[in-house]
Amino acid sequence: MVKVAVIGAGVSGLVAAKELQQEGHNVVVFEKNNRVGGTWIYTPKTDSDPLSMDPARETVHSSVYHSLRTNLPRQIMGFLDYPLSKRESGDPRTFPGHEEVLRFLEEFAGEFGIHELTRFETEVVKVERKENEWIVESRGGDSVSQEVFEAVVVCSGHFVEPRLAVVPGIENFPGFQMHSHNYRVPHSFKDQVVILIGLGPSSFDISKDIAGVAKEVHVATKPNPLLKGMKLENVRNICFHTLIKCVYEDGLVAFEDGFSTYADAIIHCTGYKYHIPFLETNGIVTIEDNRVGPLYKHVFPPSLAPGLSFIGLTFRVNTIF
Ligand SMILES: Cc1cc2nc3c(=O)[nH]c(=O)nc-3n(C[C@H](O)[C@H](O)[C@H](O)COP(=O)(O)OP(=O)(O)OC[C@H]3O[C@@H](n4cnc5c(N)ncnc54)[C@H](O)[C@@H]3O)c2cc1C
Repeated sequence: MVKVAVIGAGVSGLVAAKELQQEGHNVVVFEKNNRVGGTWIYTPKTDSDPLSMDPARETVHSSVYHSLRTNLPRQIMGFLDYPLSKRESGDPRTFPGHEEVLRFLEEFAGEFGIHELTRFETEVVKVERKENEWIVESRGGDSVSQEVFEAVVVCSGHFVEPRLAVVPGIENFPGFQMHSHNYRVPHSFKDQVVILIGLGPSSFDISKDIAGVAKEVHVATKPNPLLKGMKLENVRNICFHTLIKCVYEDGLVAFEDGFSTYADAIIHCTGYKYHIPFLETNGIVTIEDNRVGPLYKHVFPPSLAPGLSFIGLTFRVNTIF
């Protein structure tokens, strides 16, 4: 039996805690929020800096917006031994809303006794290796404490620290700028001309959400032959363009395809950076070029395994299954 610290009670932390507990280990889950669910805990609150660049800003973990439905079918969003498809939620849709995913995770945590293992409102501020042990320093309320573990599993998520687009002149744009991490509802964009940079799943959703109230929505994306002449069903005011060439001080935004328009707002839907500020490994595990490494199978750093591991680091996969 090993004493293991699991950092985070989102999807990754919940499943890691369940599996470790079933193997007979002594598991402590640290969760800075007051409930399980991680990303899936929708809140109208956002970072105090809409671009999330100010290091002193107040931060909010979740990037989920009000209208969000999963972009993967429920049939592949459950765990092998605890499917989402069989839940009796009353929602017949294949792509459930975020509320149902959160409910599912809470039920999962309840079923496998994860709440009892979790120290809520306790943020891990430092993880350091001393000989063959791991010192985990955490802050709960006003008190900071240290505890020794034989292993640490990092499950702290990676959709929190935004990455911004580099566009000539954008720093002088007179309108409103934000990162999609801080998007929740469309109302404030009523009758505006809005530019979205990037065309990942968030941009796709948010552009349609905003198009319902905005005057025009323009999406700047890398050249993609699939988008040529593309029209979205029931949406007349979204146009797809190439990348932005330049932004001017008077609010004019010029695209590489020759189109230009005055804009009221720019939303950066440009993804996230890995950010694990509490972890100290003397340079053994590094984050370079937005990649955490070296890791065997994206989980174990070979020279620190099995004492240190990471769950849920990969992009472009469904984390839940
Ligand atoms: C907008 C959006 C939509 C998505 N849609 C889908 C989808 O449809 N289908 C899908 O499969 N995936 C989707 N994802 C991916 C999603 O991130 C995963 O489904 C999953 O929630 C990731 O779980 P996680 O546990 O790795 O991270 P998170 O859910 O981010 O959980 C990390 C947890 O760690 C806690 N934490 C962080 N740092 C500390 C610390 N220092 N101390 C203590 N606790 C800490 C956080 O509070 C949080 O509870 C989406 C992601 C986003 C951002």
